[in-house]
Amino acid sequence: MKTVIPYGRQNIDDGDIQAVVEVLKSDYLTTGPAIEKFENLVADYCGVKHAVAVTNATAALQIAAQALDLKPGDQLWTSPNTFVASANAAEHLGADANFVDIDPVTLNMSVDELEKKLKATPESQRPKIIIPVHFAGQSCDMKAISELAARYSFKIIEDAAHAIGSIYNGSKVGSCKYSSMTVFSFHPVKNITTGEGGMITTNDPKLAERLRELRTIGITRNPERMSKKSEGPWYYEQREISSNFRLTDIGAALGINQLKRLESFIGRRNEIVDRYNRELAHLPITLPKLIHGERSAWHLYVIQVRENAKLNRLDLFEALRARGIGVNVHYIPVHLQPVYRAKGYKEGNYPQAEKYYANAISLPVFFELTNDQQTYVIEQLKELIGD
Ligand SMILES: *Cc1c(COP(=O)(O)O)cnc(C)c1O
Repeated sequence: MKTVIPYGRQNIDDGDIQAVVEVLKSDYLTTGPAIEKFENLVADYCGVKHAVAVTNATAALQIAAQALDLKPGDQLWTSPNTFVASANAAEHLGADANFVDIDPVTLNMSVDELEKKLKATPESQRPKIIIPVHFAGQSCDMKAISELAARYSFKIIEDAAHAIGSIYNGSKVGSCKYSSMTVFSFHPVKNITTGEGGMITTNDPKLAERLRELRTIGITRNPERMSKKSEGPWYYEQREISSNFRLTDIGAALGINQLKRLESFIGRRNEIVDRYNRELAHLPITLPKLIHGERSAWHLYVIQVRENAKLNRLDLFEALRARGIGVNVHYIPVHLQPVYRAKGYKEGNYPQAEKYYANAISLPVFFELTNDQQTYVIEQLKELIGD
């Protein structure tokens, strides 16, 4: 097998192509009806009142934090085991990102560590916002985190870039039952795609309106939100500084059709995961664990190479790549990135995230992965680190 099997990739069918072609022939390439339709469909799917489409999840996290008035001097806490964007949301707004170590089993933010850290932090330095990240698709323990939010008065933005379609405690991730807002990513490698794209869901109409302003440069056309009487039908006001974070109708049209296919995507991802779980069980690796008995959308399938394995992580990674398997690593702990080291973070700050990172490899999991390709991946692993 010569062709490289990636760790993840989009699936585009004729229906997706047709949807995009139709929008290209229509009057609107941006700010048209496809956006609102996509937003309503995502809101319905998640069981939430409002959804606001944006250019990508990085921008979504930033304007979600801005909508909660995160300002210089404020603290935002997140998981070190995430894509850098979760933490950057704070730094963009002049606030400070800080981290809570992960639970070594779920690989999500540890609720015990969070509680310990909240207790140990003086009130003036406690976070205004916490961003739990549903790593690989498994929801964080949102009930427990929301109880802490009530006790320590912080707001929650769920980073669900991996988790559209996941279910926690009977509700879809994105329902915002336990949070102010939830953020999704529609980057091609994620569970559904719009090319580039993201969505913020919320049950709070005021937050939804502010998010709509923030996605459009910080401008309002709503007379009720203006500082003075409208001067005429052309009139708008710049309420606060933001940028252009609008999704195109081209992307939204693709998203609408992809959303129809989401259940089949998740079904296939679960099949792939079940087979990995069965056939890799006897190897010297730690397999992912779904704790809550809930549904994961399985954006990632991460193994951890154990100490008794014949190859260490780097050697196994390189061997798999050499055999045409496009493995990857998620994530380099965010606090060890140069920008965060410059603020004083270092090795040893979050030992569980660091230990996990040292051994992690993401195996291919995506809708189009064939049974033969998966057989190949499993066989190579057995050959490299089996008895
Ligand atoms: C992909 C990802 C993002 C950023 O998403 P984009 O849409 O690419 O900006 C944020 N957080 C996590 C956890 C991600 O995996």
